[in-house]
Amino acid sequence: MSKSLFRNELSKLRPYVPGKPIEEVQKEYGIDEVVKLASNENQLGPSPKAMEAVKKQVENINVYPDPASMELRTKLAEKYGLEYDNIVVGNGGEQILQIISQTFIDAGDEVVSADTTFTILGIWAEHLGGKLVTVPIDGYKQDFKGMIEKISKNTKLIYVCNPNNPLGNIMTKDEVEYLVENVPDDIVIVFDEAYYDFAKVNPDYPESVDILKQRPNTIILRTFSKVTGIAGVRVGFALTSKEIATEMGKVKGTFNVNRLAQAAALGALEDEEHIKNTVEMNYKSLGMMEECFESLGLEYIKSNANFVFVNTGKNSNMVSEELLKRGIVVKAGSIWGWDTWLRVSTGTVKQTEKFTNALKEILK
Ligand SMILES: *Cc1c(COP(=O)(O)O)cnc(C)c1O
Repeated sequence: MSKSLFRNELSKLRPYVPGKPIEEVQKEYGIDEVVKLASNENQLGPSPKAMEAVKKQVENINVYPDPASMELRTKLAEKYGLEYDNIVVGNGGEQILQIISQTFIDAGDEVVSADTTFTILGIWAEHLGGKLVTVPIDGYKQDFKGMIEKISKNTKLIYVCNPNNPLGNIMTKDEVEYLVENVPDDIVIVFDEAYYDFAKVNPDYPESVDILKQRPNTIILRTFSKVTGIAGVRVGFALTSKEIATEMGKVKGTFNVNRLAQAAALGALEDEEHIKNTVEMNYKSLGMMEECFESLGLEYIKSNANFVFVNTGKNSNMVSEELLKRGIVVKAGSIWGWDTWLRVSTGTVKQTEKFTNALKEILK
């Protein structure tokens, strides 16, 4: 009998299947221009101030980065009315979710989340021998009542993605207040707010920093990948209690946020204009898509993120393949078990038109 070399939990995990690289799509279908509306990236490009800051730092890359990301944490603390030791910076929001798992999950511990949501925290929790307990989406929303009912003596974390990826909709102030009131104080609520800057234009979107100030066992996740457009250098962060931040700091890895990433984030933080332009472009693009869906009689979920989830009424693998032939990459809902839905990221007016025209052609 041969023993397995690998950790037991790895047998339950599947390798990540990356989307087709743009170059491959171009070759396969003989098209010059590919529009990638699949990963919720910023189609305006990176924050110009972030780019400038990176260029200045390039000459210092022989020197290790600041392991504490002190300047960045200090600036973030000022921005959100917290202190630097309420903040943990990570190599992208994804690393923050990994750090959260490593901070809280022992074998047998449970994480409660919706069944259709961002999956990274659940994956890391299971990797550590934890158990993901999911609750079906109800009327396209995360079912907080159902999630509260799933709390057991083993529950450590509740994960709320707000706006929810891939559905795009928000949980409102009232709904979040209901959740907070009904979850015991010794369970950590994780609010994944990767799309915060897009969502906060909706007056019903909760201000989670206020919740954190009342309820220390709260973690708010934000990222520089989406609105500031620096996904390629990887910076995300958590806002939480000092106690939790200290524990998370023990497992983050010494130099987890590299020198260019810290510089880019500091530049992006100063770039209010780029954020404003991005949010403006986003809602323009969403408006154009909604108009297209309505003209085609398609059901869609009202979004406060930089993507929208739409029911094409046809097999989503077929529709996304047809879009691919026309040079447009989107995510087929089938990967979440929503077989007739697509998740489409927003883009410039030109990119959005290319998508809506292609969709009309395919579905007519
Ligand atoms: C994009 C995203 C993140 C984190 O992205 P990073 O690029 O790793 O910072 C986290 N949560 C959700 C819901 C996201 O969509």
